[in-house]
Amino acid sequence: MIQVHDKQFEIYLSKADIAAAVQQIADGINADYAGEKVLLVAVLNGAFIFVADVMRCLTIDCEIEFIKTQSYEGMHSTGNVKMLLGLEKDLKDQHIILLEDIVDTGNTLAALLDIFRKKQPKSLKVATLLLKSAALQHKNLPLDYVGIDIPNKFVVGYGLDYDGCGRQYPDIYQAVV
Ligand code: 5GP
Ligand code: MG
Repeated sequence: MIQVHDKQFEIYLSKADIAAAVQQIADGINADYAGEKVLLVAVLNGAFIFVADVMRCLTIDCEIEFIKTQSYEGMHSTGNVKMLLGLEKDLKDQHIILLEDIVDTGNTLAALLDIFRKKQPKSLKVATLLLKSAALQHKNLPLDYVGIDIPNKFVVGYGLDYDGCGRQYPDIYQAVV
């Protein structure tokens, strides 16, 4: 058990579970983009550890950029996606893969995809380590690479936070209710 602010969390996914999911995502990307170059776009802050691990499993040519959004306050999605840090790079005619730590309602991803499609990339795919499919409110989101489908409970660790804290744990923990 760990404590983050006022909440208790219990272990849910081990380092080994996470490493297997990361490798499976990277295997898919390596196979799909063999001989091509991709631009990874990581959604900060939560995806920073995930993207570092995925990138080290890639054998294809790749570059990385970071963007920042915010939709959560505490343990709840506000449903309102703010872009706090944008993208400098020209996306036209590039293969883009958006990397998310977790897709919950899908609001963040839907908003990001709208923005990215307008920039006319050569292709646009999405990789997420975690998916709460029971919480998903958007149909037809292109979830090309999904690590682990988890129940609709709040998780921390491996880059994921609860009000800023809890990101440093190598395993993923679930809130105890
Ligand atoms: P969505 O817009 O899909 O509802 O939520 C996406 C963002 O909310 C994620 O990128 C993540 O930052 C945050 N989020 C959603 N569920 C969780 C969760 O269980 N734990 C943490 N730490 N963040 C979450
Ligand atoms: Mg996030």
